[in-house]
Amino acid sequence: MEIITTVKQLNNFLENVRQNGQNIGFVPTMGALHQGHLSLIKKAKTNKNFVVCSIFVNPTQFNNKTDLAKYPRTLDIDARLLETVKCDVLFAPSINEVYPKNLNTSLDINFNGLDTTMEGEFRPGHFEGMAQVVKRLLDIVKPDNLYMGQKDFQQFTIVAHMIKKLKIKTKLVVCKILRETNGLAMSSRNERLTKDQRNKASLIYKTLKSAFGKRNKLSPKEIEAKAMATLAEPDFKPEYFRIVDGTTLKPVRDFSKHKYVVACVACWVGDVRLIDNKIFKNEI
Ligand code: AMP
Repeated sequence: MEIITTVKQLNNFLENVRQNGQNIGFVPTMGALHQGHLSLIKKAKTNKNFVVCSIFVNPTQFNNKTDLAKYPRTLDIDARLLETVKCDVLFAPSINEVYPKNLNTSLDINFNGLDTTMEGEFRPGHFEGMAQVVKRLLDIVKPDNLYMGQKDFQQFTIVAHMIKKLKIKTKLVVCKILRETNGLAMSSRNERLTKDQRNKASLIYKTLKSAFGKRNKLSPKEIEAKAMATLAEPDFKPEYFRIVDGTTLKPVRDFSKHKYVVACVACWVGDVRLIDNKIFKNEI
């Protein structure tokens, strides 16, 4: 695996790959890699891409400076993990490479409210920063295929909207959520949980599954209220549990009126903020 830190080196390297007629698959990450991330690389490899994985802890998407400071940085271990799944290039740029002083990387896109609900309410500015870095990385890598996880449902929905709106020639491939054996969605943040919290955090997925089981008996509003009550355990602080349309992310009040429905949840366990989701219905 090639480890590249500058845009110039990466451009030169990928030029050859393109001339050889290979498709480029891109997996953007913030590092502290786990099997969930590696599953995206494996998927991109299975689809016969030349795979570039980026590791960049993007400061513009952190509204909470403590969260940014505490974000785990484990580049050496990450590089070794990427070797195990035969990733072709690890792109690990500095902040100056991603945001050079002489380049305006800000975006002005109307996300039709996709960015202001759920995560957008609780993490103001987060999606602006996320979209900015994804757009910048797409400009640098110019991949044929972009691999993102369903784990961050709102994130990939916003990226899909951006790709469409800006007519970017990259295909978005969404990959399923990898979970720990107790059901907890894998996340770099799980490392910050104590053993006990990590066990108890399985309640988040249990609540999603239990909510799913109630979809033919209760209204979305009733299910949301029950889920919020279930999550109100000691050491837990649920921020939201919302049943939304999978395309618009607007609240679902009647299941029969929507073809694509997803439940999204954000919950603090101790001082770690976790998110998860479950698709209830997808008929599109
Ligand atoms: P992050 O490093 O957290 O920004 O995540 C990088 C990519 O990995 C995003 O597209 C995430 O959705 C994806 N990802 C994170 N956790 C998981 C997981 N448990 N299963 C599958 N993909 C994941």
